[in-house]
Parts: sequence; C-alpha cells; structure tokens
Amino acid sequence: MKLCTVWGEMSSDSAADQYPTVNVCDDCFKADDGDEDSQIVSHEGKYDPAYGEECHFCGKTEEEEREGA
Ligand SMILES: [Zn+2]
Repeated sequence: MKLCTVWGEMSSDSAADQYPTVNVCDDCFKADDGDEDSQIVSHEGKYDPAYGEECHFCGKTEEEEREGA
C-alpha cells in the first residue's frame, strides 16, 4: 500500500479535489504504468491511514493486502 496523489475532479475549485491524496494498493500501483490512462499523479510515500484505510481504486484494505487476500 502506498500513499499517492491521483487525478481527481478537475472541474472543482479545490486543489484537494483536483489532486486528492489517497492510498493505493501495490497491485493497483503496479497496474498503473504511467501511460495516458494513468490515474496516479505521483507517489507520495508510505500508506497513511489518515487518508482512508482502503485502496482508492479497488477497495482492498491494508490488512487484506498484508494477508495476501
Ligand atoms: Zn487496489
């Protein structure tokens, strides 16, 4: 699980909505290969439960990832 900035709601006035910071599981991070369909703007660091306990894309939790579910 990684903490990432992703593309959000570009029509929003708020930078926090345009580029939300979310947790992304390793599978989704790997699946995002940086091409034009990329959803991830940048990798910010390690998983931070302050930004939610599930993967932004698939809903997997940090615990499920650790257990290999
Ligand atoms: Zn995921």
